Parts: sequence; C-alpha cells; structure tokens
Amino acid sequence: MSELAMTELPILVVGGGPAGVAAAVTLAEAGLRVLLIEQRDRLGGAIHRQPAPGAPQVWRGPARHRRNWTELTSRLERAAARIELRTSSVFLGIDGAGRFLFEDRRAGRVFARRVRAAIVAVGAVERIRPFEGWELPGVTSAGGAQVLLKETGRPPEGPIVVAGTGPLLLAVAAQLARAGNPPLAVLERGNPWRRPKTLAGLATAGPQLTEAAAYATTLAWKRVPYRTASEVLGVSEVGQGLAIRVRLGKIERLLQARHLLVHDGLEPNRAGIPLPAPGAEIPVLLAGDGREILGADAAILDGRRAAAAVLASLGQAAPVAPLEAALGKARAFQRDLAEALRSPSTLPTPETMICRCEGRRYADFTALPADASAREIRLMGRFGLGACQGRFCGPMLAELRGEALPSASPPRWPLRPVSLAALANFSMDQTET
Ligand SMILES: Cc1cc2nc3c(=O)[nH]c(=O)nc-3n(C[C@H](O)[C@H](O)[C@H](O)COP(=O)(O)OP(=O)(O)OC[C@H]3O[C@@H](n4cnc5c(N)ncnc54)[C@H](O)[C@@H]3O)c2cc1C
Repeated sequence: MSELAMTELPILVVGGGPAGVAAAVTLAEAGLRVLLIEQRDRLGGAIHRQPAPGAPQVWRGPARHRRNWTELTSRLERAAARIELRTSSVFLGIDGAGRFLFEDRRAGRVFARRVRAAIVAVGAVERIRPFEGWELPGVTSAGGAQVLLKETGRPPEGPIVVAGTGPLLLAVAAQLARAGNPPLAVLERGNPWRRPKTLAGLATAGPQLTEAAAYATTLAWKRVPYRTASEVLGVSEVGQGLAIRVRLGKIERLLQARHLLVHDGLEPNRAGIPLPAPGAEIPVLLAGDGREILGADAAILDGRRAAAAVLASLGQAAPVAPLEAALGKARAFQRDLAEALRSPSTLPTPETMICRCEGRRYADFTALPADASAREIRLMGRFGLGACQGRFCGPMLAELRGEALPSASPPRWPLRPVSLAALANFSMDQTET
C-alpha cells in the first residue's frame, strides 16, 4: 500500500453482515482504506451467523446464500491489506467533535476514530405485536431463538409453538425441526390463500420460492402443522410451561407448550439514527436491512450501492443503475409478500404489557392524552425510560398510534449501554492521523 493510502483517513463500515462486507470489499477493491466494525466476535450478520467455537453447525442454509458468503469472504481475504477489521467492537455513535466512537469489548475500552465517510449497515430488528403474557419467561422472539440455535446448535427443549407473521416463521420452524425439536405448530396470522393474485405474483420469484418450498417440505416431513389466519390471543404460566390461548381460523383453542416463539416482521435497526451528529460533516449512508428490508440477496447489492455512492462522493465514478434495478425487483417482491400476509390489526387488551422494563400496560398508554408528544409519553407515561432504552415499547407504541414516534431528544451516544470501566479506558485510537 502506498504511504498516502496508509495515512489517509479510512471509510468506516459498521456491520459485518452481507451488506457491510459487500460495501467494505467494494471500497477496498477501489483502492480505499476501510475500517470494518462488527459487534460480534465473527462476521456473518443475521443470516450467516456462525456456531460458537466447539458447537455443531445444525443448519448450513440454502446453497445460494452459502455461495454468496463464500464469495464475499474470499474477496475480503484478498483485500485484507486495505481493510482493518475490528470484531467485538460496538459502534456507540458520534461525539460533538465529529469523532466516531466504539467500544472494544475484548480490551474493555472505548476508542475514537476520525473517518472520511461512513456506511452504517446494522441490519434489522424484529417486530413483536403485544398480547397478554408476551413478557413471560418462555416467550422469546423467533429471531432470538434462531440466533441461539445457530450459535449453540441446540434447539430449546420441550414443546414449542411458533407464531406471528412473515417468512421467518417458516425458516425458524424448519430449522428447529431439522435440529431435532419440531414445533407443535406454526401459526401465521395472515391468510395468503385469500389473495391468490398476489400469491401468483410471488410464485415467479425464483430463489426465494425455492427456499420457502424447502422449509415447507421439512415441516410437512416432520408433520408440523402450518396454520394460516391463526394467532395467539394470550399466554399465562402453568407449572413449568405456558398455556397459550390461540385462534385457529374461527376456533379458539388452548395449547400447552414450554416455549412460544413470536415474530411479526422485521424493520430497519435505526437505533441512534438519524446520523450524523453535528460536527461530523462527512457522508454517512445506510445500507442493507438497516436502510430497507429487502432480504439477504438485496443486502449485498445495497452494500455495493452504498459503496458506489461513497466512491462517487470522492470523485470516483461507479455505475449504480443495474444495482438500483435489481433492488427495485427485491422491493416489489417484499411489497407483494407484505400484501399476501396482510392481516387486520387488533388492539391489545388494557392489561397487555407494553413496557416490560417499567411494567407499563396498554391502559397506562390509553390514559395519556391522544395527542401526547413523544416527550409526554416518556415522562408522564414512563414509556421508553427503562433499561432497553425503548427498543421494544417504542416500535409497539408507534404501531399502535399508526405513526413513527418522534424521538424525545436527538440521538446521543452511547447508542448502546457501555460500562464505566470501558469509558474510563477511553483512548484516541493510535491509528488516528
Ligand atoms: C433475526 C433475523 C433472522 C433472519 N433469518 C433469516 C433467514 O433465516 N433466512 C433469510 O433469508 N433471511 C433471514 N433474515 C434476513 C437476513 O438476515 C437479512 O436480509 C440480511 O442478513 C441483511 O444483511 P445486513 O448486512 O443488512 O444485516 P445483518 O446481516 O443483520 O448484519 C448487520 C450486522 O451489524 C452488526 N451490528 C449491529 N449493530 C451494531 C453496532 N452498533 N456496532 C457494531 N456492529 C453492529 C450485527 O452484529 C450484524 O452482524 C433474518 C434477519 C433477522 C434480523
């Protein structure tokens, strides 16, 4: 690498999933220095999460995803001289002086870097529609259970029900079945059979359809019922397990299980966004699921699109038209999928927990004035003040109000909880120029 390249400020890429890695290699291959930050100890993101050392790999994923990842990681190896990879490092935000802050969890210290531009590719978060009992032990998000399964190779023990809406229900249920614990049932709230035209449109999506068919085949082979127009109405604890009141079509039933895995779709992980903070007068772009939920294939294209935009801002031409066209197709697919699974919205009961950190229920929310501002909801209602910093109740309330809740205050670092010891060990990174 030339001396200039060694001393120039890097382009920051936050997130080591398909979008972040695609962005990092595209920039490095164009001759730029890249700082790639990933909070986990290995790259992979939500889809290519690797087993913990010594744990078995129970599910390897569809061949096309594996091929895509192998290609990205070999390009990463080839471009390694230009990419400074920092794993176990969490992006915390931007300080008032425009420095990007990170927590190095291995070293237990916060460090700061200046960068020329940033691409934030921090993936998606799961949506959970609240119902009575969702906060009880034994109720987990389906994505959270999938993370455990991929990392430990062990499915949760005992009977499992998977419920909510979206393609992840199928994927998680099939992966549990393959790992040796097929769920009792998968309950999909939507009723796609009611929308045959939309379904017919989806049937032309090649790879996604093949993937869904493989999951459906596994469920059929393991005799796991997949019920549409079905949902969880409420949950209570019984003995060591859960009594789950469900609606199956028009019939109400009680199911007994040890675990209930819930999931109501994905949304961009926007913790701390909008960026940049005052003082960081540089291009900051979002990429992948963190910008728009378009799926794993599109995340790679979107990482390349963001990298091309950074290159263009630095005066290096990079064509984006073919990428935009492919992203448009992915967008149309996601729109059709959402339409096929659309279901009527139901309000929670007054007793339904909304903020589990502070024990605030739906009745506490409806007691607030209908036009309460975000600040009033926080201060008078005590929503969003707990340890999770509103990560769960914020999106729930936004959905119940039918609008995004404006943030009560502009995003400030740290975007994630950080220990005082790590802060006390603050350092301006030695590679700072
Ligand atoms: C829980 C879950 C399960 C999914 N399961 C499937 C599936 O089975 N099949 C399928 O086709 N698609 C699945 N998807 C969708 C698919 O994973 C995504 O479309 C794809 O991974 C998006 O890639 P990405 O790079 O945008 O985000 P991700 O792959 O999510 O990568 C984002 C990365 O950013 C890192 N990160 C986040 N915040 C910070 C921070 N503050 N500092 C540093 N690093 C940070 C994360 O650790 C992660 O590695 C799933 C998504 C989720 C959220």
